[in-house]
Amino acid sequence: MQQQVSDHLIGSRVDGRYLVRSRLAGGGMSTVYLATDERLDRDVALKVLHPHLANDQNFLDRLQREARAAASLSHPHVVGVLDQGQDGHIAYIVMEYIKGHTLRDVLNEKKALPPRLAFALIDPVIEGVAAAHAAGLIHRDIKPENVLIAEDGRIKVGDFGLARAVTANTSTGALIGTVAYVAPELVLGKPADARSDIYSTGIMLYEMLTGKQPYAGDVPIQVAYQHVNAEVAPPSLAVPGLAADVDELVQWCTAKEPDDRPVDGSALLSELRHIRTTLSDAQLDLNPPAAAAAVVNAEPRTAVATAIVAPFDDGRTETLERIGRPTDIISGQRNPTTVMPSSLPPAAVYTGELDRQDAPPSKRDLKRIARQEEKDRLRAAATPSRTLREGNPRRRAIIWIVVVIVLAILAGAAGWFFGMGPGSPGTIPDTKNKTVAEAQQLLRTAGFQSEPRDVFDDDVQAGLAVGTEPASGQVVRKFQPVALFVSKGPQLFPLPALAGLTLDQAKNALGNAEMTLGKVTEQYDDTVPAGSIVSQSPAKDTAVRHGTQVSLLVSKGPQPLPVPDVRGMDQQAAVQAISDAGLTAKIAPDPVFDKKVPAGSVVSQSPANGTLTRGSAVTITLSKGPRQVHVPNFIGKQADAARKALESLGFDVKVNNILGGFFGTVRDQNPVDSDAPEGSTVTLTVV
Ligand code: ADP
Ligand code: MG
Repeated sequence: MQQQVSDHLIGSRVDGRYLVRSRLAGGGMSTVYLATDERLDRDVALKVLHPHLANDQNFLDRLQREARAAASLSHPHVVGVLDQGQDGHIAYIVMEYIKGHTLRDVLNEKKALPPRLAFALIDPVIEGVAAAHAAGLIHRDIKPENVLIAEDGRIKVGDFGLARAVTANTSTGALIGTVAYVAPELVLGKPADARSDIYSTGIMLYEMLTGKQPYAGDVPIQVAYQHVNAEVAPPSLAVPGLAADVDELVQWCTAKEPDDRPVDGSALLSELRHIRTTLSDAQLDLNPPAAAAAVVNAEPRTAVATAIVAPFDDGRTETLERIGRPTDIISGQRNPTTVMPSSLPPAAVYTGELDRQDAPPSKRDLKRIARQEEKDRLRAAATPSRTLREGNPRRRAIIWIVVVIVLAILAGAAGWFFGMGPGSPGTIPDTKNKTVAEAQQLLRTAGFQSEPRDVFDDDVQAGLAVGTEPASGQVVRKFQPVALFVSKGPQLFPLPALAGLTLDQAKNALGNAEMTLGKVTEQYDDTVPAGSIVSQSPAKDTAVRHGTQVSLLVSKGPQPLPVPDVRGMDQQAAVQAISDAGLTAKIAPDPVFDKKVPAGSVVSQSPANGTLTRGSAVTITLSKGPRQVHVPNFIGKQADAARKALESLGFDVKVNNILGGFFGTVRDQNPVDSDAPEGSTVTLTVV
């Protein structure tokens, strides 16, 4: 589940800047991704705190300390930290991307390394550690996993996740770091200082030279116990022929008492470089038996760094291309010359003091002689890991008693516990899409107790298992609690109300709610102003998953309605036509005379054309028919004068000429001396 959650990051952008591309590695606390810094257009490594830790202030502090510690150092052999931040639930640091491998990968493939290669690899590591020490920092987690080797051979110390200022009180009580490399003073709950890093570096050098860690144990406490009580065996016991100086260097670094070790990284660095100058080519190229075995048994795997460039204090740079070099095994002999590089004659192999003739005697040499005697004794006894050092017998006795009691209890309980009990390892089964009962049964059968936890999931149907933490396929001890994630279905969110917003505001609101814009339709609306949302689908408050498409109806404002021409219609027809057009008819209070329009019909309207909005008024003026005008009497008058007078009163005049109208006198008139409608015809009979 964890996996799935973290991997949701792939393809997404952190803080709007880092495009997460692929997963590089995952640990207990964080996942490291390859990402692209889009602002500067370069590859970076992005270390993201596991989401379930991102709310835990301790882990946030730790991540921040890591960023600050590493950022305060700028050194070619320390992984550079470029940025650090938090984006919602994602707490992260950004580092320079080291394309390549870790020293762990090299050791997995090569097992033991020839001294030349081991020195070349550890020299820059110690330089990085020395830089940290010079800056007042202790790394506290030196181990092969935290040494990054770029494809081009650059070597960098990473993972300052446990680093502390030397001045800080670093006595935590709890054992930190990795038990295989942890210094005895830390096992005993005492403060760490630079010399604790030297110890871990010494253990790591031992592992590089011999292909194995000096202390083994089924449970961490057995290893921790040996750090406190056993002496690290000279690596030459495992790699016959290894130079005595190299033995001594490892034992100096891994002395129980911090006072007996090099004081810090730079002290170790100068000793390492000095010793290297005293070694012959044969000693440097000594091929360890484990390395030979590794080559013989090599499984096909991706090739690790092939060219490793080693700088030395005399200014030389040396390119080592010895990984994968063929070796001969001469069987049947048991002397130090048994295993050698094929290109070296047996005579060239280091044989004791010969090479030391020109090296100046020093305090270190005297110490070495004392140690050589000790070593011989150990070799004779062949029980190097059980030797107790002298000094402070009271404290050792107490530790002994405590440890013996603990081990006695552990021996009984641990056998069962780690063999077949809750401490034995099991593989987490795949529970995805199973019912809760089925999933729990699967887990029980595999030996795990599970705790169901409800989570939202877009893909898995509600009520079915999404997965587990640790994820399926992982091998973990059975007492470890397993969280079983059960889907509640997709997480639903209520849709925001969008009606009345402008289209832009609505788009914003949808974006903020992590919804998407669906179809946008425009429509006339008499109440919603143009450009604003009339309605949405689905409706507001509908519970939907993120990303749901929401369709919007946007107002074009009120619809323009054409005004009908109702002139000449009677009142009823006109009112009907106007209301059919969606408008309201109003009748002007005062009807007017009209010669042509019959009484009760529409003479004029306002407006007479164009468009109006729904319900707007169209005022119509009705006719009360033609005006009544008095027709004077023109009988006996001249016809021309009579016609003119009648026409000026608004009448049509019709003249009937009798006998050709010879006298031009009106003899008869119809109508006469009465009221007649304006525009009606008056007939004159003229003789
Ligand atoms: P953790 O605290 O989980 O141990 P590390 O910083 O040691 O985190 O990183 C874990 C692994 O991620 C390393 O062992 C290495 O494989 C990979 N890694 C870490 N930092 C980088 C980097 N800067 N470039 C490339 N790979 C890296
Ligand atoms: Mg690490």
